[in-house]
Amino acid sequence: MAGRRVFVLDTTALLSAQFEPGPAELVTVQEAVDEVVYGGLAPQRVSTALSTKAIKLKKPSPQAIKQVEETARMTGDLPKLSKTDLAVLALAYEERVGGAEVVVVTDDYSLQNTALRLGLGVWGVGRETVREMREWVYRCLVCGKVYTRPMNRCRECGGEVERVVKRASR
Ligand SMILES: [Zn+2]
Repeated sequence: MAGRRVFVLDTTALLSAQFEPGPAELVTVQEAVDEVVYGGLAPQRVSTALSTKAIKLKKPSPQAIKQVEETARMTGDLPKLSKTDLAVLALAYEERVGGAEVVVVTDDYSLQNTALRLGLGVWGVGRETVREMREWVYRCLVCGKVYTRPMNRCRECGGEVERVVKRASR
């Protein structure tokens, strides 16, 4: 039997991920969600993904946070990690201890480095796009107008704008 695959999303991943059903379970922590919501960046997409359980919210234990702090101190990354980063790492670490195959999805270098040291997989948000050779456009869900640059709201009608694949090559 194949093990569980879990993608742990940090704030940068929440802002750019396509929350479609995939081969892995998507999880994140409240701290990362708070950064998205209070930052005023794409909160609607994220809250929709949370309410439909496309992304699950989990809370790491204080022991797991202590463990990743220890590791980050050893790698020298601790001063660069926020409380949110540590929560993301702790959640990923716990999932790994629980037997899942874990990938931390983040663009943050210190987070990636500590994750590797903890034996976790890492996946850069930017790299995902490059690896899959995708080109994105941004389409209004209401009127269908297509934009080449990301925006939260359609300039024509104020509708929600979604990122879609323009062309996929393999
Ligand atoms: Zn529109």
